[in-house]
Amino acid sequence: MKPIIATPSATKEYVSKYQCMAKKGYGQNFLIEPGIVDKIARYAVTSNHCAVIEIGPGIGALTQFLCRYAKRVIAYEIDERLPQVLEDSLSDCDNFSLVMEDFLNVDVSSVVADWNQKGYDVVVAANLPYYITTPILFKLFESRAPIQAITVMMQKEVADRFHAGVNSADYNALSVITQYRCEVTPIMNVPRNVFMPKPKVDSRVLQFRLKEPRLNVEEEKLFALIKACFRQRRKTILNNFGEYLGNNKEKAREILGQADIDPVRRAQNITLEEFLRLYEVSL
Ligand code: SAM
Repeated sequence: MKPIIATPSATKEYVSKYQCMAKKGYGQNFLIEPGIVDKIARYAVTSNHCAVIEIGPGIGALTQFLCRYAKRVIAYEIDERLPQVLEDSLSDCDNFSLVMEDFLNVDVSSVVADWNQKGYDVVVAANLPYYITTPILFKLFESRAPIQAITVMMQKEVADRFHAGVNSADYNALSVITQYRCEVTPIMNVPRNVFMPKPKVDSRVLQFRLKEPRLNVEEEKLFALIKACFRQRRKTILNNFGEYLGNNKEKAREILGQADIDPVRRAQNITLEEFLRLYEVSL
């Protein structure tokens, strides 16, 4: 068996052998702590017939452990320097395949359907490139593909917004929209010193499980309403919602009354269920 990739010495060796210094523009920070990588992989692989879609394998630190626990690992990478590294670092992983494609261009539904047809459960795992964390997650959510679980690492501050609860400082439109679509579970905190190069901030691993879409909800309308209610955080829901209704405060007051929401409250104190009620009565 090949040596573990997620160590400082192995990472230095691959980087120097293949002259692949981490590129900031691709959001590259390689994991160098095998215990953490092992734990992420164990959480990510949710059944014993899983195909894992990995976004950004880098030099293979997480991939190596995913290959250990999953039946198949299909990784999407953008950096043209990395295929030759992966060919070496993962040479003993015969369940691994690499696709050189910007993940933002991937047709997620058809990829997931293909692997489902072959009899696999599909999950997603990644140490995400920080510069496109939200676009990647929204692409996965919006695909509506039957993905069993999405287990990903991101900057702690971004993770805080995805799973923030009502009444907390981080609770915003992104939190409400994400929690409408998914169950969000924090898995673990990851300190900055287990990456090479060391980033300026700590990270956190979250797991997202997509919920069944609710019938009779036009999501674009619901999300526009939620975003409008958070537009100016200091303003009351009456003011923000009134602006959304074309500066019609009277109508806003009436609809808020029907939804049983006190007009002097602020968006950060309003639950997902209350936003759904507001959406329903404002139809
Ligand atoms: N998985 C490795 C690890 O944990 O050590 C590397 C993670 S690094 C934070 C992010 C990886 O995503 C890099 O390998 C980078 O080249 C890749 N990447 C960046 N943008 C990408 C994109 N649009 N599509 C696919 N991969 C991308």
